[in-house]
Amino acid sequence: MPTNSYRLRLFAASLLIAFLECTTFSTAQARRASKDSGSGATVVIDAGHGGYDRGGIPGQRVAEKEMTLDVAQRLKKVLAASGCRVVMTRDGDVFVPLGTRVAIANSYSNAIFVSIHFNSAKRSGAGGIETYFYSRESLPLASAIHYFVAGGAPSSNRNVRRRGYYVLRKTAVPAVLVECGFLTNPTEAAYAQTASYRQKLAEEIAAGVRGRNTVASTLATTRVATGENIPLQPYIDQTKVAKSERHRSKRSHKKSTRRKKKSSKPAGSEAKAASKDQEG
Ligand SMILES: [Zn+2]
Repeated sequence: MPTNSYRLRLFAASLLIAFLECTTFSTAQARRASKDSGSGATVVIDAGHGGYDRGGIPGQRVAEKEMTLDVAQRLKKVLAASGCRVVMTRDGDVFVPLGTRVAIANSYSNAIFVSIHFNSAKRSGAGGIETYFYSRESLPLASAIHYFVAGGAPSSNRNVRRRGYYVLRKTAVPAVLVECGFLTNPTEAAYAQTASYRQKLAEEIAAGVRGRNTVASTLATTRVATGENIPLQPYIDQTKVAKSERHRSKRSHKKSTRRKKKSSKPAGSEAKAASKDQEG
């Protein structure tokens, strides 16, 4: 029969173990945990842009729409292999209006929506990975995807950000938009153009999808995003940007407030406006 002091020591030891488990959560452990929550949801994969909408900025050499589709198709394979039900908003080089993309996501009550994009900027030095969410329910998914993608990429970490992109605002299910690097940055564009790197991106996004219920809650005690510390962002405010970019960002913000008043606008025009918002 254990004595009271023995029980007390046992309790203290189990507390210590629980504490250590929370604070020494490694990538390997996260990966293991991420394998547990794969089944159940329908993952709606949204390859950004397509058809006449090339994505990126005018004169950009690498077409964003091609990179997003390739990563999306790789992600589909990775997730399907682990037993996830997967739906693509586009599976070829076609233009799909944002409203249609959202409608596809909203037609599954148990869906999660993952929109894949690459960034662009006039300044070729701009680089890094950033992940957007809008609704509070989307934050765990955003944190988990960002944890893996930013953790596995050679690019800098531009953090999880909250922003009212159309596909994030209008989806009734957890929705995330991940910017997998800058195609206007020579180093990041070179990575994006290799199949092995796009495969890695797909695998990291998949790890985030599978780990959405475990990674974010475990990391909540550390410096990873919580709903309270990420305010809604009018535009870039987490990185140092050149004055000209800051000026542009204010204009974009004005544009987005104007857009809100004209809600009858077709989704396609917002697609163009939204793509302009991708830091150029
Ligand atoms: Zn894009």
